Amino acid sequence: MESTESRECARCGTCCVAPDISSLQKKPGERCRHLTDALACGIYRDRPAVCRGYRPDEICASIAAPTLDQRVAGYLRLFGLREIS
Ligand code: SF4
Repeated sequence: MESTESRECARCGTCCVAPDISSLQKKPGERCRHLTDALACGIYRDRPAVCRGYRPDEICASIAAPTLDQRVAGYLRLFGLREIS
């Protein structure tokens, strides 16, 4: 059953590092070049459609961890992805 619970984005930065984003030529586990040190989007008004469409969901809670590296590792593990260098 799909959850209808809405979540607040915790601005943890994980979705700007962990998933691959083809429109940005970003590989899994690679930090988006537009993600600032404060974990904000540096091109927020011009961010690609895939970023605009993202909504926080239960995955965010399931990979919650104290550091960005830990959250990214949890995401990659969850989806069976490996960081591509
Ligand atoms: S463009 Fe912005 S919102 Fe999209 S992944 Fe990069 S930093 Fe995140």
